[in-house]
Amino acid sequence: MIYRLKNWLHRNRHPERYALLDGLLRNQAMTREQLLAKREHDLSEIIRHAYDRAPYYREKYAEVAAQGLAMGSLPILHKDEVIRHRDRLVAADFDWSALKIGNTGGSTGKPVSFYYDAFKGELMRAGMARSYMWAGWKPGEKILNFWGARQDIKSGPGFGQRVNAYIAAERTIGAYEYTEAELRAWAATIRSYRPVLLQGYASILAELARYVIDHKIPMPATLRGVFSTAEVLYGWQRELMERAFGCKVFNQYGSREIPNIACECRHGNLHVFTDMVYLESLDIEHERRLIVTSLTNRAMPFIRYDIGDSGRLKEGDCACGSPFPLMEIGLCRSNDLIRTRSGKRFYPSYFIHLLDGLEGIGQYQFVQREADKITLNLVAPGGLPAETLGALGERIRREVDAGMVLEVVYVDEIKRTVSGKHRFVISNPV
Ligand SMILES: [Zn+2]
Repeated sequence: MIYRLKNWLHRNRHPERYALLDGLLRNQAMTREQLLAKREHDLSEIIRHAYDRAPYYREKYAEVAAQGLAMGSLPILHKDEVIRHRDRLVAADFDWSALKIGNTGGSTGKPVSFYYDAFKGELMRAGMARSYMWAGWKPGEKILNFWGARQDIKSGPGFGQRVNAYIAAERTIGAYEYTEAELRAWAATIRSYRPVLLQGYASILAELARYVIDHKIPMPATLRGVFSTAEVLYGWQRELMERAFGCKVFNQYGSREIPNIACECRHGNLHVFTDMVYLESLDIEHERRLIVTSLTNRAMPFIRYDIGDSGRLKEGDCACGSPFPLMEIGLCRSNDLIRTRSGKRFYPSYFIHLLDGLEGIGQYQFVQREADKITLNLVAPGGLPAETLGALGERIRREVDAGMVLEVVYVDEIKRTVSGKHRFVISNPV
């Protein structure tokens, strides 16, 4: 009864979002052929719209326009172009006063700001809601967010906000900095709020999961899913969360400028939302780079955008029955590879696994600023035994590069990026 009332209140407050959600649910009832036909149609529409309306695309596509603006002939849009030409990427017929500015965190080093309108905001929420439904969540059921991005958190929970939070059935905890005391309080909040879904940054949820396991804190049976977002999700983090929260983890893939690119289903496969994006995987600089086109963002079109991630598209169907095609996300963001003087490149997962089984580490981060040196910043109040660190340095010289020096620096905390993301491996050799 309470659920029905809430659902009704929620629908009344957000009619556009629910209408959009209904449309998205109809799309996922299509066959794959129908979906791909719709994608082709949406794609040619948005390319034409961008070329006709946005001054920057008009100029950028001048040479290929004569051949009919075929997707494969369009040049890639890079982040630094978005930074330099932001205002000229906006479609000319949009009312500037209705546009808001969003910022990406810059997990790949370059924060990007972009314009969006209210429609995009509602569509993003509707797209998220569709993903949540894959976990068995129903509109109006409670979600608890652990958010690492300080800029998103509004302060001062007044009465009006409490009412809104009740109807929205959503609560957000600012998780940009925390201690053991906060982890304890958050675990208590999950127990008293009894949400159906948890959502947040992978690194934050994994630390909370570790705390819940270490202190044997029982989690409510209401939990049906954990949505990991914004950061790369590692296997060990997923394992911790599933153990701690007693439900499945769903990895979401998207960014602020292009949300809802893909989401994992119950079978653990990432499905590409082809009714919202056109995703390509291209060989660029020896990497399978993901190139994304938003099919829905008409205010500021993103066409063939190099989002800064690697991954590939997969053939075949999934046992879950979803018509959306499959993909795999690469384990690294493009600048998180460690490079050696001899030209070898190491994926971040290699360094993350170096610390497997070591006790007493709170947080850590590998940083490469010079070709022959890697700094390991460690939050480890008791310190690590000298033999352990010696063996670690030895292993890096053996497996990575004979000339590579490991420097260990104990720190009190590791700052997150501007957007609140935790980066385990940073490589920026000069
Ligand atoms: Zn599936």
